[in-house]
Amino acid sequence: MEKGEKIYEGKAKILYKTDNPDQLIQYFKDDATAFNAAKKGTVAEKGVMNNKISTKIFEFLESQGLPTHFVEHLNDREMLVKKVEIVLVEVIIRNRAAGSLCRLLGIEEGTKLSQPIFEFCYKRDDLGDPLINEDHILALSLATQEEIDTIKKYTHQVNDLMRKFFLNLNLELIDFKLEFGRHKGKIILADEISPDTCRLWEVGTGNKLDKDRFRHDLGNIEEAYQEVLTRVSK
Ligand code: ADP
Ligand code: UDP
Repeated sequence: MEKGEKIYEGKAKILYKTDNPDQLIQYFKDDATAFNAAKKGTVAEKGVMNNKISTKIFEFLESQGLPTHFVEHLNDREMLVKKVEIVLVEVIIRNRAAGSLCRLLGIEEGTKLSQPIFEFCYKRDDLGDPLINEDHILALSLATQEEIDTIKKYTHQVNDLMRKFFLNLNLELIDFKLEFGRHKGKIILADEISPDTCRLWEVGTGNKLDKDRFRHDLGNIEEAYQEVLTRVSK
């Protein structure tokens, strides 16, 4: 498989063409951004760790019957994926209050939620990915009702599966973001699932093992990502 031209460079990853028009190489960088890219930095070996962690999680979800873009882990920083048309909606599920939910509702970080909260955000960096609802999605034709229903169904399944998966590793899944894409007329899970896109707190200690260490300068970021990698590799 030949690596072709770069087609997109984002904040954390680069996409390259391959000789197969249906597949792309997703390259994971060490660059980190937060607060809509107002804060920028790099985390040593983050790309390598996120590529491996995402691989483990996509393999797990595929084994449980969820369709994903994952094809193959190629090397340290590269993953082969199915090329999709990204749905311009980011999906967030929250099991416990943190981050923007606390700012939105004026509640304490760590507040228990009596059921998971499902959120949609419009994938628009220039607008800071604003919170939207199904009416906005339909009115702007970002996705069809059928696609929304599928995305919701898959996201709840991913939440149920990942909560158990991480709890087995003594990690509580606080919240996470998913992106979906269209592939041959079907909705599949795309992008990455890693400590950049999930909040993970160690059970018992409450130790944060995710990007909040970068967002809030908590230190030991590399160690935290490495700890997640070690646990998911067991
Ligand atoms: P951003 O674009 O937010 O800066 P990244 O640096 O993570 O984010 O860039 C990766 C880009 O690739 C994202 O815009 C994401 O939506 C897109 N993407 C993820 N998986 C696929 C895929 N399988 N096919 C096409 N695009 C994808
Ligand atoms: N998230 C993400 N990308 C985004 C926005 C959020 O991966 O563009 C993830 C984030 O890491 C967290 C969850 O989605 O696990 C909820 O994020 P929140 O809205 O609290 O974001 P914050 O404002 O704190 O960055």
